[in-house]
Amino acid sequence: MTDSKPMDGRVALVTGASRGLGYAICKKLAADGAHVIAVARTQGGLEDLDDEIRKLGGACTIVPMDLQTPDGIEKLAEIVAERWGKLDALVVNAGVLGNLTPTAQLTAKVWNEVLAVNLIAPARFIRAFEALLKASDAGRAVFTTSGVGSRRAKAYWAAYGASKAGLDNLVMAWAEELEGSTVRANLVNPGTVRTRMRAKAAPGEDPNSLPHPDEIAPAFVSLCLPSETRTGEIVDAQA
Ligand code: NAP
Repeated sequence: MTDSKPMDGRVALVTGASRGLGYAICKKLAADGAHVIAVARTQGGLEDLDDEIRKLGGACTIVPMDLQTPDGIEKLAEIVAERWGKLDALVVNAGVLGNLTPTAQLTAKVWNEVLAVNLIAPARFIRAFEALLKASDAGRAVFTTSGVGSRRAKAYWAAYGASKAGLDNLVMAWAEELEGSTVRANLVNPGTVRTRMRAKAAPGEDPNSLPHPDEIAPAFVSLCLPSETRTGEIVDAQA
């Protein structure tokens, strides 16, 4: 390890770490010196990530978990508190698209999953991890939003769009409450990125026309740095 790594000695937790954007964010955080706690359901994806991070000379703890598990997020906070006593960076990135369908045809099952993963889980992370972020000298929280959300509605995207609009409001309210503390909270709109979610949303699109997650990850990681001063903002990664 050299002094030039900006996340050296820092602990970062990332959700949605098994593939796509979360996987790339974990790799970048580890390359920058952080110990990464990687959360998702798919064990194989997390194990691949662990291998890649070890090859980079970094360190990772994998946590296979469904974010809808009752008390799962809260128990994870207890484990982080016992082992590290603080959290320096929290990246709440996991998300689901639901069905792109006429709004009147959205079922309660789809609404429940989309809201649970995209909105309620982030609220539970705030509740469970605020004290640990405050225990850091410079706690940083980053949430993944979307171009469809508080700034734009789109036909057939109502469940996903409503969940992201709610997320934007949740994080901006919390950021206001954090004024006077050393914690900063922001959102990133990644733009369209070459991931499984995007392929589901736009199956006719050439994935190679889109940026790879590795190209977008630095926008998230810069918001995790202790030197970051922005708070309560929606940052467009491809602006
Ligand atoms: P992705 O490849 O489908 O990744 C989604 C991640 O979320 C996976 O790691 C998945 O892991 C995890 N996840 C989903 N449901 C979960 C659950 N119940 N419990 C735990 N983990 C869960 O999609 P992505 O594009 O990287 O998406 C990442 C974020 O970017 C999302 O918030 C999405 O809304 C946002 N976004 C993406 C784009 C884009 O163009 N790709 C654009 C705007 C916003 P498991 O399935 O292993 O659990």
